[in-house]
Amino acid sequence: MYRNSNIELIKKLSSADKIEHAEWIRLLTALNSEEREFLRQSAADVATENFGRGVYVRGLIEISSYCRNNCHYCGLRCSNASAERYRLTKEQVLECCEYGAQLGFNTFVLQGGEDPKQNDAWIADVTAAIREKFPDKAITLSVGERSNEAYNAFRRAGADRYLLRHETRNDAHYAMLHPESMSAANRRNCLEVLKQLGFQTGTGMMIGSPGQSVEHLTEDLMFIDELKPEMIGIGPFIPAKNTPFNDHPAGSVDTTLILISLLRLRHPKALIPATTALATLSDDGRKRAILAGANVVMPNLSPSDIRSKYSIYDNKAAYGCESAGGLDKLNVELSTIGYHIDFGRGDYK
Ligand code: SAM
Ligand code: SF4
Repeated sequence: MYRNSNIELIKKLSSADKIEHAEWIRLLTALNSEEREFLRQSAADVATENFGRGVYVRGLIEISSYCRNNCHYCGLRCSNASAERYRLTKEQVLECCEYGAQLGFNTFVLQGGEDPKQNDAWIADVTAAIREKFPDKAITLSVGERSNEAYNAFRRAGADRYLLRHETRNDAHYAMLHPESMSAANRRNCLEVLKQLGFQTGTGMMIGSPGQSVEHLTEDLMFIDELKPEMIGIGPFIPAKNTPFNDHPAGSVDTTLILISLLRLRHPKALIPATTALATLSDDGRKRAILAGANVVMPNLSPSDIRSKYSIYDNKAAYGCESAGGLDKLNVELSTIGYHIDFGRGDYK
């Protein structure tokens, strides 16, 4: 009876207005291997119904490894004196976009640390320059917590999307992962503002971050249900050397895949990437993520000589299928599971 009810609960994910706290806990802790497979297949079916067998590609440009913040988990944190630092110039970012456009990309993602030299005006200026040169491409920004005015300026300059993971909905857990100068409430406020400004907004969390419990993941899932983000990025935590959590074990690939499937069923049209962190931990992580309901891959468009310096965690994948130059390889990999690259902008619809 209980076993059947787990299948019923999985079915309910697509239809119910709300999943109760105890139900989330059950989904996260009580599924046997058959039920997990049913969950995965259901999520893959929902992704196929909404996106076919196409996987969107976004060209990722890592614009700076400088950061004023000190998130305890991240290799770019400001107190990591051994991190290698670089920042791209406006011209270099535009060159990356040019290269990406030649390869067929229709979305550029500018991601970086909160670099004081790449201030709000600089980000707005680069965004406007990309918008002018590539009027039809989608521009996604992922440059952390900024003021409402800054987000507004980015939007007016032509940015369409913004990625800002909430990292954890639990305030005490957030405080464990971040310095005192950062707060979970401010992060959530930023997400609200981004939504109000009309950005397609992405949030998410690491799986297996230090101190994370099933209760925390439940709070995350309930928060994402409320926020209804257009994009959801989740990947396993991976330790980074010279950070307070360098000895902490990496998050579980299997748990990450379960989360992808749960989120796919709750958010059928959301853009959910098969993250680089998954591909870093597991050779078939990208394929398994797509077969669990993910529908986006973000190959790296950054200049290859600086890629190793954007070291948010150890051994980060940035070449082969994770590289924009490896699109053919990626297409071959996707074809082995019956999928293919979709070069469309991949807006939330
Ligand atoms: N600075 C921006 C921000 O924090 O939103 C964008 C860059 S930041 C490196 C992008 C994401 O990397 C973060 O949201 C975080 O979830 C993820 N990240 C950082 N350190 C990580 C680690 N050790 N393992 C896995 N993901 C990590
Ligand atoms: Fe900076 Fe983002 Fe890393 Fe935090 S996660 S230290 S804000 S780059």
